[in-house]
Formats: sequence, structure tokens, C-alpha cells
Amino acid sequence: MSRLLVLGAHPDDAEYHAGGLTSIYRSLGRTVRWISATDGSAGHHLLHGPELVARRRREAAASAARASVEHQVWDFPDAHLVADLDLRQRVIREIRTFRPDLVLTHRPWDYHPDHRALGQAVMDACYLVTVPGLMRDVPPLERDPVVAYLADPFRKPIEFRPDRILDVTDRIDAIVSLLAEHESQFFEFLPVSFGSPEPLPSDPNERPAWLKRWFLARTAWRAERWSPGGGERLIEAFELAEHAAGADPALLDHLFPGSRKPG
Ligand SMILES: [Zn+2]
Repeated sequence: MSRLLVLGAHPDDAEYHAGGLTSIYRSLGRTVRWISATDGSAGHHLLHGPELVARRRREAAASAARASVEHQVWDFPDAHLVADLDLRQRVIREIRTFRPDLVLTHRPWDYHPDHRALGQAVMDACYLVTVPGLMRDVPPLERDPVVAYLADPFRKPIEFRPDRILDVTDRIDAIVSLLAEHESQFFEFLPVSFGSPEPLPSDPNERPAWLKRWFLARTAWRAERWSPGGGERLIEAFELAEHAAGADPALLDHLFPGSRKPG
């Protein structure tokens, strides 16, 4: 049984980037924990402060409950995350106590500074999770977990090059139902921040179908790169981080069930 830890910067990152793999893990009876390193306090165009933080915590809890996963929302302020010692120590403590087999996080070249900071902090935590002289109140791990990056479209300075590609089109309705729990994001802030080709329906019953179209459009670049000619597919992709444990093909098949190698 493998344990999956998704270290995202914001309360909706785990579902957005790895909702499919999470669903597969849970259907296999494996344990999953989602972390949001920040409190989500910058994620709205009208709301802010404690009211928004409380709302985002409720939304994250509802989504995690729906997905049957453990979750935490840490209290680093949204849009203020830096790869400092506080964040590194928090990540080391989390990995040592949860003892995941697979850790997913953002690349240090993703678009959002919080994503980049967390990706850097996770890289900084690799190896140190095994060093016994550090953080002596929590036993060190005997070996690093496998660490992999969540997909992003950026090509500079280094393009995302997946080691595993996962077609989760058959799980899209379940993933959209998780995203829909984050009402403040997918039905309020993100259509304003990222734009939307069609307006949000006023009828709440039409919103799941609208969100499904919006999400497929936002993630179409993944299908174009890694599932060409396949119609409307939902693809998740993962790139191994070199600073953590290596993985042979059999282990990757186990950690990413149903995935394929690129090419
Ligand atoms: Zn994010």
C-alpha cells in the first residue's frame, strides 16, 4: 500500500493538478493527504482577510471529505510564500511524520511565486528528511520518498518533461465535483482572474457542466502535448525530481497506476 502526499501551495491545487491520481489511489484503498501550504487569503477579487480564509478552509475540507482524503491547510499567508527555513522545516516534518511513498508538488518554474517557493522548499527538504542530526524530535526516514512534479506548461528556463502520463478522462466528473466545492474559486475568482469563454450560468444546476467545459479548456494544453488526436481528454502528467529517490519502471507502474511512459 502506497501513501501519496500532495504538497500544493493553495487550497485547490491538489484537486486541480492531481485529482485523477488521487481518485485512483483512493479506489485502490491507498492513503492520500492533501496539503495547502498557504491559507488562500489572496484568492479572491472581492473578499479578503479572515472571512476569505475561513471560507477557503471550509471549501478545502468539503472537497477533501468528498475525495475521502486527509487534508491540511497551513497558515502561511497566500501570495507571500518564500522558500525559507520555516517552510523547509515544515515540509521536512510533514514528510517524516506522514511517511509518503510518493510526494507531488509544483515545479520551481511554475507561474505562481507560491508554487515556485513550495517546489524549491520540497527540493530543499529532499535528502534532509533522512539526516538524523536535523530535527531530532522526529525520526528521520531511511530513504527519500519518490518526489514528482505536477504538470505546468512553461518552457523557460526548463520545460516540463513528463516521466508518466495518466489519462483520467473517465474520472473527470468526480474531479469536477471536487473543484466545485471550491465555490469561491471556480465560480467566482478564477473566471475573473483567468477569464472564461462563456459566462457563468446563473442557474446553479448548469454550473457543473459549465465547470467541466471550463476545466477541459484550461487543461487542453496537456492533452495537446501528451494525447494528440485523442479528442477531449483530461491528462495528468508527472516528472520525477532528481534530488529525491529514483524509481525503476516497476515502481513507477505501482506509484502511478494506469499511467504510461511518454513517447
Ligand atoms: Zn496554486
